[in-house]
Amino acid sequence: MADENLSFDVVIVGAGPAGLAAAIRLAQRARQAGNLAPSIAVLEKGERVGAHILSGAVLDARPLGELFPDFETMPGCPVRQRVTRNRMLLLTPQHAWDLPVLPEFSNAGHYVISLGRLTEWLAVQAEDLGVNILTESAVTDLIYVHDQVAGVWVGPKGLDQNSKPKASFQEAVEIRSRAVILAEGAYGYLAKKLDKRFSLTASAQIPQTYATAVKELWQIPPGRMAAGEVWTLLGWPLDSKQFGGGFVYALDANRVSIGLVVGLEGWNPVFDPQVALQQLKLHPKLRPILAGGKLECYGSKIIPEAGWFGLGKMAVGGCMVAGDSAGLVNVPQNKGIHYALKSGMLAAETVFEALQGSVTPTKSLAAEALQSYESRLRASYIGRELHRARHFRENFRRGLWAGIFLTGLQVLTGGWWFPRSPLPAPRFTLHASRSTPGALDKLTALYTSGTRHEENQPAHLLVSDPTLCVTRCVQEYGNPCLRFCPASVYEIVHTEPGKRKLQVNFSNCVHCKTCELLDPYGIIEWVPPEGGGGPGYGGM
Ligand code: SF4
Repeated sequence: MADENLSFDVVIVGAGPAGLAAAIRLAQRARQAGNLAPSIAVLEKGERVGAHILSGAVLDARPLGELFPDFETMPGCPVRQRVTRNRMLLLTPQHAWDLPVLPEFSNAGHYVISLGRLTEWLAVQAEDLGVNILTESAVTDLIYVHDQVAGVWVGPKGLDQNSKPKASFQEAVEIRSRAVILAEGAYGYLAKKLDKRFSLTASAQIPQTYATAVKELWQIPPGRMAAGEVWTLLGWPLDSKQFGGGFVYALDANRVSIGLVVGLEGWNPVFDPQVALQQLKLHPKLRPILAGGKLECYGSKIIPEAGWFGLGKMAVGGCMVAGDSAGLVNVPQNKGIHYALKSGMLAAETVFEALQGSVTPTKSLAAEALQSYESRLRASYIGRELHRARHFRENFRRGLWAGIFLTGLQVLTGGWWFPRSPLPAPRFTLHASRSTPGALDKLTALYTSGTRHEENQPAHLLVSDPTLCVTRCVQEYGNPCLRFCPASVYEIVHTEPGKRKLQVNFSNCVHCKTCELLDPYGIIEWVPPEGGGGPGYGGM
């Protein structure tokens, strides 16, 4: 047992948009009602709010307007820049063609934002409402009582690489709560554990699928792109079998986000997303925008893509799952922040009503009391829009051109043209290759992510059978981790003549979790490192 025990009525894991919206909505409801003052804690593994936050991003501000009707005029609110122009460009290596932007994919009326800045601001609003935000708190497990979630464990600090206490050692902290909201982002560590115990995803029609995204934030000379311009890029440097695309968003007259999103299904083992992003930046359409500019920050994350068909159960006794952790992303719109905000708010509404109706003020909230979260979510615009877009992702499993054609038909028929079951998702492409394209300065880009971990701590990337890397993997796939990891964490090093081994530079890790999903033998596991470690993104 820990030396230190804490308790809150509600614990929220993750200070991203879902977690902070949940905290704010719950505190707002309690203030309005006046008869309830729940204690609320948001636990964040980063050294500060926003440090681990990365998104494109274009924001559909509907849920923000529900949280704060006057957000546009609130002091410090970073949601200011409306989308001023929306283009969809089809790229070949030398040319770019404008495609018509169908209303379904339009960003008109939305805002170009930095999600990192938005979460920083939301954290201030939450604290003003009495919410406790505890940073450097890496939650490593859930506490169960009678098969209900009854709290969380925050992992210890100050262990050395052999898991022995150092002088700075701090024990794990047990935090009891009546409800836990998991808002850890895509492929959440605790959400995965909850799924194993309660088979949450068993009711989904297809397994969750993911894309990986790499992004750079650039300071550019003025006049290169109008503030609020949003470009969605299709085609090159991806081939027609790869699902994904690029984006360029002008946050203001001097800063642009540029990025590339690539589906993990059917992944080509020789593909390196960071190298592809460098190629994209050199395209004749984009190069003049960035010329003379300066890279401010680089980072990576994964994005859930299965949409409606991938939705599983989202609530059990004492616990709910929100945002990217629950797979709430609208793939055709390339947006999930608004669903993260809205799902966090719906989870908070559910908890608030359950707390009000509860007659035992210390027990965790029963599954029956939290079940309405899922029905609220499916009945909200999240459910309606995900259902309407349900076949989009699988249309592109037939390739880019078939995807464009089928999606056009789907839009014209409101989705009813596709009365078929979802397709199964492939993992790696079967062809193997041993060519290794050289990474274009991945380490230099990584430096701007601000990532750091205390070196003398237990590794947070667990490779169960590293000999496979230098035997089967090198033969069958050419060690794809050397390329798909955006942070050069994995290296094959020579130990003595003729002998090689896998070296894991875990301190480089930006916590994207691509490796756990793409490792072809299922031998890599990402676990939370000591709180405070990880990227130190600024304005991503
Ligand atoms: Fe992402 Fe894994 Fe590389 Fe870390 S080691 S940056 S989680 S791919």
